[in-house]
Amino acid sequence: MFIDENSSDENKSDISILTRDQQILLYTIDYLTKWVRGGDHFLQIPEERTWIKELPLWAVIYYQIVKGTYETYDYAPTSIQFFGRSSFTVNLSYEGVDDIEDLRELEIIDKIRLSTSQHGFVTAYRITDYGNKLLVLIPKDVKDEVHGLFYCEHCKTHLNFLMNIGDEPEIKIDCPECDVSDFELAFLESEDVSYISEPYFLRISKKLVG
Ligand SMILES: [Zn+2]
Repeated sequence: MFIDENSSDENKSDISILTRDQQILLYTIDYLTKWVRGGDHFLQIPEERTWIKELPLWAVIYYQIVKGTYETYDYAPTSIQFFGRSSFTVNLSYEGVDDIEDLRELEIIDKIRLSTSQHGFVTAYRITDYGNKLLVLIPKDVKDEVHGLFYCEHCKTHLNFLMNIGDEPEIKIDCPECDVSDFELAFLESEDVSYISEPYFLRISKKLVG
């Protein structure tokens, strides 16, 4: 089931091994897998912790970049193939993708890649036991900043995260009270772009098998 290989044996227990951006990312994954429920964002495996799927995690990272959360992350329109579909374009953060991989190599998060009858392959992440030990060491100001982004800035209601994978894929982050949803069009771009020659999916696949 797992494709993790060549993991590090290092087991440092100092949060300073992580940059501030990596701490934000780690706490975000923790928040998503523990406190956000419902929808098609998660893999629920009996007797296991919840896993956050890759595409909604990328969308949340994009949302956080737009909100100015990260010091070093940027994003770029990138053509990806997902769930066996033809390619479509998302605003993907390469720094975020790299840090996800770094956290996995440090055994702070687990990665799973499952074959599903509906959507082809699905990749998802969750926090490891070691990652949970590091979580308590994350500074309060980092946690507060991440936490704050999951609440509506107008009415303080917890935001909804909606993900639809169909003929017209959409990912929305919106407030159930204010009807504010300004992120759905920003992360997923419907028109095809021809200026990126290598679908990102292929690069990930090489890592998985290599
Ligand atoms: Zn609101």
